[in-house]
Amino acid sequence: MNYYDYHMHSSFSTDGKASMVEMIEKSIDLGLKEICFTDHVDYGIFTDDSFMVDLDDYSKKIDELKTRYKSKISIQKGIEFGLQSDLSDYYRDRAHKYDFDFIICSIHAIDRMDLYMGSYFEGKSQVEIYENYYNELLQVVKTYKDYSVLGHLDLIKRYAPFDTYLEDEMFHDIISEILKQAIYDGKGIEINTSSYKYKLPDLTPSRYILKLYKELGGEIITTGSDSHRTSEIACEFDYIYSYLKEIGFNYITRFEQMKPEFIKI
Ligand SMILES: [Zn+2]
Ligand SMILES: [Zn+2]
Repeated sequence: MNYYDYHMHSSFSTDGKASMVEMIEKSIDLGLKEICFTDHVDYGIFTDDSFMVDLDDYSKKIDELKTRYKSKISIQKGIEFGLQSDLSDYYRDRAHKYDFDFIICSIHAIDRMDLYMGSYFEGKSQVEIYENYYNELLQVVKTYKDYSVLGHLDLIKRYAPFDTYLEDEMFHDIISEILKQAIYDGKGIEINTSSYKYKLPDLTPSRYILKLYKELGGEIITTGSDSHRTSEIACEFDYIYSYLKEIGFNYITRFEQMKPEFIKI
């Protein structure tokens, strides 16, 4: 499989279930071309400060494994930053201090509250929750530029506690604004196949958003499983590679020292 899994967690992440070595060995078994570790750094959350990584150790460990496995698989040094709109300075410093190949910019929390924990949603309507999420992401892309792709762009659908999802059409304008800013800045988006694990009715981001990104001129797209255990690596990659081609993406993207390189699908 000539695939690039650009969203993988290891036991460096609090919720990671496998060591880097286990994730690498499984990726070699699957015949992947390249993988990129993107463990969590989520700074500034009231309820939980455990989603932090010792970046010195992390960086060193990847360098070591990169060399050790050089003849078998290519390993890149990435990170997943959990941004909040007022934390740009904090993350900018971290981005520059280490020689990352790739940085995912994700929203996991708003107003210091972890979306996963749910308290943020109390007393808010579904529309309000979606709007707040996209507004937060828009503020982030306006102020923070040290990243490669936006992670799971419509994550709010997964966490907002409602039985049905609101249509993307309702948020067309703000989603367009986010995408236009990212495109203008030379940034990309990822297709995140954890949508299968969470049994979402659509891809993440949705087919609507993927097509909108294409229409607006977006070209940088990475493929990531958001795997936290070995069984999730490269989940449904056969399908997403063919789907991307179907909607007109002839290339996916890999990153080296934060620079995109296009790989023909
Ligand atoms: Zn994430
Ligand atoms: Zn992740």
